[in-house]
Amino acid sequence: MTGTYDWNPMPHFVDVRCPSCSARATFEFAEVVKIRLKNDVPFFQKSKLFDYQLFQDSCGHRWHGAIFYAGLHAGSVAAIRSLPEGYTPENWAHSRYLYRSHGLDIGSVNCSSCGLIQKHDLDWPSDAFFSIQYKGQELWAFNQESAKDLRDFIADIARDIDDYKWRHFLLHIPSIFKKRGAREHVVKHLNRLLDY
Ligand SMILES: [Zn+2]
Repeated sequence: MTGTYDWNPMPHFVDVRCPSCSARATFEFAEVVKIRLKNDVPFFQKSKLFDYQLFQDSCGHRWHGAIFYAGLHAGSVAAIRSLPEGYTPENWAHSRYLYRSHGLDIGSVNCSSCGLIQKHDLDWPSDAFFSIQYKGQELWAFNQESAKDLRDFIADIARDIDDYKWRHFLLHIPSIFKKRGAREHVVKHLNRLLDY
């Protein structure tokens, strides 16, 4: 998919196809916090809770990052009990939307169908559960809620964007899917996924 449909930011949670059983699973982005003092780096390198990684920003400056996967800990930062001075567990609490500025598509996948919980590098939109093909193009939605909005919007004759919670996402839908001829196909295939 090209252009503005590559929507940024993304929600903190997206629905993916489970890598193990292909059912609908939840992907949760990991959170990275900048390690400010070099002296703190060994703590995060040794920690079992955190992954340590050296990053490079767009200007070429390197920075040390401590990554926490809340999805591996029941979606909470409560597992973080000790930290160097100047940090709190809430530093790794998620923001609602993630700006994918560091090319950081890392997180974890959690599948209630087969019980899989593991780290996962997100490949979006290939991993999207709510994804359908129409005339060789891919139409996707982030999660069940946005997929419902997408289906209702495509089915809607009036298509008043203000009626929809996910209006900013809907604004980025390529026009090929909004053509009258696409309506039946798109609605039918989205319904199939929503009923899954
Ligand atoms: Zn599964």
